[in-house]
Amino acid sequence: MSKLEISGLTRDFPTRGEPIQVLRGIDLQVSAGETVAVTGPSGCGKSTLLHILGTLDTPSGGNMQLDGIDPFTLDDQALAHFRNQNIGFIFQDHHLLPQLSILENVLIPAIANGRPDQDCMQRARQLIERVGLADRIEHRPAELSGGERERVAVARSLIHQPTLLLADEPTGNLDQTNARQIGSLLLEMHEQEEMMLVVVTHSLELAGMLDRQYRLDDGKLVNP
Ligand code: ADP
Ligand code: MG
Repeated sequence: MSKLEISGLTRDFPTRGEPIQVLRGIDLQVSAGETVAVTGPSGCGKSTLLHILGTLDTPSGGNMQLDGIDPFTLDDQALAHFRNQNIGFIFQDHHLLPQLSILENVLIPAIANGRPDQDCMQRARQLIERVGLADRIEHRPAELSGGERERVAVARSLIHQPTLLLADEPTGNLDQTNARQIGSLLLEMHEQEEMMLVVVTHSLELAGMLDRQYRLDDGKLVNP
């Protein structure tokens, strides 16, 4: 049973003067099948926290273990492999490549390992179908609406069946109707795949759809 365990996690950014202390001691435990929301206003450190959980940034202090492994003890190559195998990431501005088709975009994490095999191609097509874009598979991101692009980002994040799925403001750029649809889609995918899901958002409505809610306040997680 997979598990994410974080204790005393800190992140400072150096400045010319005193460093800014963005995370000041984060404690969090998430088990397989759980969904967690972290809310807070812009600039409070939500993306900073999520990037560390995704091993895209390194903490200044504290401890993190995913399935008993501290990813920050791994060398670069092992860390890249660990991230690719275990973690799915939905970025704040989705990071789709404009010159690639929807299918190719969903396959990006797989292409990092060489040519995707038949199973992987099959899974990519199924995911695109499941997010409701079967008829757009050869289109480019610019031909899709904001909500549709977010759906592509959801499909891409799931290509390797991550044990930990992280979403950074997945409804941040969407109107209320599309935001609700993406919230429901995330929960539907979560139910089918049973990974740990951590969403950071300033939307209390989205947060309210998840099992547990925290607020990031002065660098710490508190109950809302
Ligand atoms: P949120 O996602 O909640 O809007 P962020 O995590 O992006 O907030 O940023 C939190 C704070 O950390 C902000 O004050 C931001 O300027 C600062 N920050 C984030 N990344 C860096 C960085 N690489 N270097 C310096 N400061 C940073
Ligand atoms: Mg952010």
